[in-house]
Amino acid sequence: MKMVSFSSSQTNPKVYHSLQEIDGLSCARCGRKTITHKKIQEERHKIELDAKQAIDKLSQKENIDSVAFHLLKKLSEDSPQKTVREIVAQENAQAALSQLCEEDKKEFRHLVKNATKMALPAHLALKKIEEYKTLINPNKQIVFEELEVLAQKNKDKTLSEILKMPEVQEEYKAKAKHCITTNNLSPRCRRNNPFRFFAQNKNEDDKTIVEKLISGLENTFEHVKRNSNNGQRVQSNGITLCFDCNNYIKERKYPDVIDEFPQMRENTQKQIDEVIEYINDGELINHENYPTEIKQRLYDESEHIINIDISKMKK
Ligand SMILES: [Zn+2]
Repeated sequence: MKMVSFSSSQTNPKVYHSLQEIDGLSCARCGRKTITHKKIQEERHKIELDAKQAIDKLSQKENIDSVAFHLLKKLSEDSPQKTVREIVAQENAQAALSQLCEEDKKEFRHLVKNATKMALPAHLALKKIEEYKTLINPNKQIVFEELEVLAQKNKDKTLSEILKMPEVQEEYKAKAKHCITTNNLSPRCRRNNPFRFFAQNKNEDDKTIVEKLISGLENTFEHVKRNSNNGQRVQSNGITLCFDCNNYIKERKYPDVIDEFPQMRENTQKQIDEVIEYINDGELINHENYPTEIKQRLYDESEHIINIDISKMKK
């Protein structure tokens, strides 16, 4: 057994303990690059305003004479390039905070909470997550493109501000309705009606809107032997699917899934090839038996349709 200290997972070379920790693994069904939950959280934070801008904006609606406000302002002036969230995590901020009375601490937390919600204008926020635009599912791509047009028309507004505009809500309510009648959809159908996104998210904050756009790519654990069939959540019974595919497959059986989408066979092979490379490079630890185990499990559960080649595994 390889001995690896936990600290080494923070530095190069990176060490993973499960498939779900790996960013960029191909989805075993659709073949798109998946992203980790951690990565999605990082993307959410990318749209935060820097501290100076956040505090300028905050000063328009909060009590700027409070002790807490002065402290936050001072801290942000010391680190103008950072976001409020980064500043508050610093040691000097924690030390200064510990000097405050309970009342001021409470006010400080309130200000921080509001400051970290301050987001970049929509056109800049969308730029930050542009790399996902071609990866997200076709419906979300339509939403992304519609948001880009709206963002150009409303350059000073954030995503959540745009979604709250009555004229935007009106416009997309009409588009959603049109989509229902022309495609003969059920009124609640979300999958084939991208325009429902606008009504559904009109009360969400900016970070949540960003998350909703990209979360379909999140990697999820797929029970190869189904949960409902006593399949366990252990790695030898798990492959990685993007959230969209996992949501789609649900309890469907693999022969049916492959019938509908034959590329799943090659995409599963692609994922296992990637995993084998991580194992061979020593970056995915304690998974030496995984390829053999998952090969058998996939073979059994797919009624012998998926037969993975694991010969790339180093002996
Ligand atoms: Zn997928």
